Amino acid sequence: MNNLNKFTPFQTIVGYNLLEELKNFSNSKTCIITMKDLWKIFKPNFNNETNVYFVISLEEEFLENEISKFIKYDTIIGLGGGQALDVAKYFSWRCNLKLFQFPTSLSVDAVFGHRSGIRKNNIVNYIGWAIPECIFIDYDIIQSAPKIYNYSGIGDVLCFYTGVLDWKYATKKNKCEKKWKYNDELAAKSLKHVNELLDNIEDVKKLNKKGINTIVKAHQWGGNSFFSSGWNPRHIEGIEHFFFYNLELQTKKKFIHGQPVCLGFILGCLLHNDYNNKFKKFFKEINFDIRPESMNLTWDEIQNSLKSLNKFIIDNNLWYGIGNDFIYSDDIFNKLVKNINEIYEE
Ligand SMILES: [Zn+2]
Repeated sequence: MNNLNKFTPFQTIVGYNLLEELKNFSNSKTCIITMKDLWKIFKPNFNNETNVYFVISLEEEFLENEISKFIKYDTIIGLGGGQALDVAKYFSWRCNLKLFQFPTSLSVDAVFGHRSGIRKNNIVNYIGWAIPECIFIDYDIIQSAPKIYNYSGIGDVLCFYTGVLDWKYATKKNKCEKKWKYNDELAAKSLKHVNELLDNIEDVKKLNKKGINTIVKAHQWGGNSFFSSGWNPRHIEGIEHFFFYNLELQTKKKFIHGQPVCLGFILGCLLHNDYNNKFKKFFKEINFDIRPESMNLTWDEIQNSLKSLNKFIIDNNLWYGIGNDFIYSDDIFNKLVKNINEIYEE
């Protein structure tokens, strides 16, 4: 590893009662970016004059038309899950506003990267450059979020595993990009976080302090090692996210990030012949629902998205992995159904 690369995440403060701190630097030039349903919960923590913007869409064209609303501010606070944090990053970047991020759940690692995951015609694009002054992780607030949003965060940890599998696969096939040559140190660090997640299953399940820290540390690694390694995504992302991006495009539905990502993770492991018992055990124990019906989907929709997955990966020029050589078969679909069903049977 090049010693010039430093792996330091964005400044993060963890603790209790952190919303109180926001009052000490918010004024008429501050705008909170959040979701309508969340504001009902958090409004009492702010005074009545607080400026609020509710997220409606992540489409670039829509966001661009909203820019004039932010010219009067100098500070933005993202309060919520992935969408609020991504939109906060976007306006902070486009309007040159100071940014503070306050995740209310662990649903996704968005808060730890510069880029904003916005959509161009329904396709995810990671653009922009935003560095928060600080990220606040409040244990009480995270713990009060519905469990499904926090369990969602395991998707952005498990993806390290399938990311590394794809990286090794591409290397073996001699298809790995020269700029992202296989790097054992990066891969090993990613896998260490996956192991920590599995080893701390009890705490992760309970979402106690240790469990939250385990997920946050992995998300810090994901976001931070991406930019610190020169925007190399190989050790943190692969087939599992590609599956999700395509599913989103095909169905035009909104997802809790970790549900389709975990489904894509199991698919990726199956394709790599590496869905081993430690993962089976983990999914059984955590009891995070990733069945299609929990995402308002049918198995038919999953099947259809599998049929177009290979084309999606090639058309979008995503980095080479198992998906590039994936040819749809009923066999793999049935295998996926069987393995998902097995998680939930007694
Ligand atoms: Zn993700």
